[in-house]
Amino acid sequence: MSLPLESVTTSWVGTANEPGSGFPLQWLPYCAFTPASASRPELLPEPTAPMAAQTDPRTDSHLAPHLGVGIGAFILDLYQLQAAGLLSDLSAELQSACCASHLNALMGCGPSAWTALRKRLLDLLKSPKSRSSRNQVQRRLVASLMTPAAKAIFHKPVCTENYTDFYASWHHARNVGRLFRPDRPLLPNYAWLPIGYHGRASSLVVSGTPVRRPYGQRKLDSEPAPVFQPSDRLDYELEVAAYIGVGNPLGSRVPIEEAAKHLFGISLLNDWSARDIQSWEYQPLGPFLGKSFATSVSPWVVSMEALAPYRTRLAARAASDPAPLDYLAEPEADLSGFDITVEAHLSTAKMRERGIPAVRLSQANLRDLYWSFAQMLTHHTSNGCNLRIGDILASGTVSGEQPGSQGCLLEMTRGGEDPLCLPTGERRSFLEDGDEVSLRGFANREGLPLVSMGECRGRVLSARE
Ligand code: MN
Repeated sequence: MSLPLESVTTSWVGTANEPGSGFPLQWLPYCAFTPASASRPELLPEPTAPMAAQTDPRTDSHLAPHLGVGIGAFILDLYQLQAAGLLSDLSAELQSACCASHLNALMGCGPSAWTALRKRLLDLLKSPKSRSSRNQVQRRLVASLMTPAAKAIFHKPVCTENYTDFYASWHHARNVGRLFRPDRPLLPNYAWLPIGYHGRASSLVVSGTPVRRPYGQRKLDSEPAPVFQPSDRLDYELEVAAYIGVGNPLGSRVPIEEAAKHLFGISLLNDWSARDIQSWEYQPLGPFLGKSFATSVSPWVVSMEALAPYRTRLAARAASDPAPLDYLAEPEADLSGFDITVEAHLSTAKMRERGIPAVRLSQANLRDLYWSFAQMLTHHTSNGCNLRIGDILASGTVSGEQPGSQGCLLEMTRGGEDPLCLPTGERRSFLEDGDEVSLRGFANREGLPLVSMGECRGRVLSARE
C-alpha cells in the first residue's frame, strides 16, 4: 500500500518533528479541552486536581470546552481557528461543527468533510515551501491559537449515547475461559460471531477522572449467601474504542464493504471491572453492575485517515476454525486490522511516594484481534440495530499469546492465584485503593515517525462510606 504524501512531511511546530513526540504532523488526533488559563481561578480547578476531569464547564457557557487537534506538545484550538477566519473556505456546517464542544457535529458532517478539515489542518501546520511574509504572518497567527497540551483540562471528546463492549481478542477469551472451563475454554459461537454486550454510556468518563471502588453483591463459593460490600476484586481492561462517525437507520444493515466508512476514529478505553460482582451476577444475562460503575476513555481520538498507514492484516485464524459467514467476510483482509501496540501500566501510592515510576504490566498489539472493527460494526447492525453518531464499539480486553501480553489482572494473575510482585515488594492480585492504571498505545512503523494514542488514566478511590 502506498503511503499518503503527507506522511513524509514535517511541521513548522518544532515539537511535532521530535522523535518520540508521538503527535507528528500526519497524526492530528482530536480532543475537547479548556486551556488552563481560560477561566481560572474560581470556576475551574487546576488540571492536576483529582476531580478536574469530572467538572463539566458546559454548565457555564463561557467555559464550554473547545475542540482541538494535537500537534507536537500543543493543542491547536479549532474554535479559535474558525474565529480567526482560517477555516473560511470550508462549508458553513463544518465551520460550525469546529465550534462545538464535542466531536459529534463534526462526525455528522461526514467523511468528505473530515477529509477537507484534515487537509486544511495539514496545510496550516506543514513546513512552508517558501518564507514569504504571508506565510510567516499566518504561522504567527496559528501559533497564537495553540495551548500547551500539558496545561489543558480535557473533557470527553465525544457525546456517546450507546456503548457496546466486544470480546474480540481470541487470546483473552481463551485465557479467561480456561479459568472457568479448563477443558472447553472457548464456547462454540466464538469463531462464528463477534461476542458483545451492551455497556453503560452514562458512566463513561475522560482519562484522569478518579474511579470509585464500587459496592455490590458478591458471593464466595464457600458461603451460603452473598454479602453487600465494596468489591475486593477490582480490575481494569486494556481496550480500544472505535467511534461511530456515520450512523445507520433503524432496520438497515451495514454491509461489511461499507463498514469502514462508518468509523470516525479510535481511542484508548479502560473497561473497569469488579470481578467478584461480575462473577455472581453475570449468568444468565451477562455483565451488569460489575462493569457499569465506570469506563474511562482517552481524551484523544485518532481519525481513520491518520490510521491509514498503520492498517494491516489481522493475525491468521487457526486452520481448524471456520471461515466467517459471507456477511462477515472482510473484502480487504490485508487492511482489516491495525498495527498498534497497546500497554497497561500501574503505579501504587507507595510507588509514587518513593518516586518509583509506573511499571508496565502488559503489552499487546491490535493486529492480534480475532475480529476487526468492521466485522463488529457489521455484526452489530446485522439485525437492523441502528448505530448513532458518537456510539462506541470497544474491542474487549486486548491480549496476546505471549506472557506479559495479558490485558487485565484476572487473566494475568489467573483469577488472583498468582499475584504480581511490584518494585516496592507490594503484591497485587487485584487493584488496591490509590492504584493508578495508565493505558497507552503507539505505532512505530518503519519510515514513519512514532505516533501515540495518548494516555487513558484513572486512579482508584476507596469505596464511599
Ligand atoms: Mn471489556
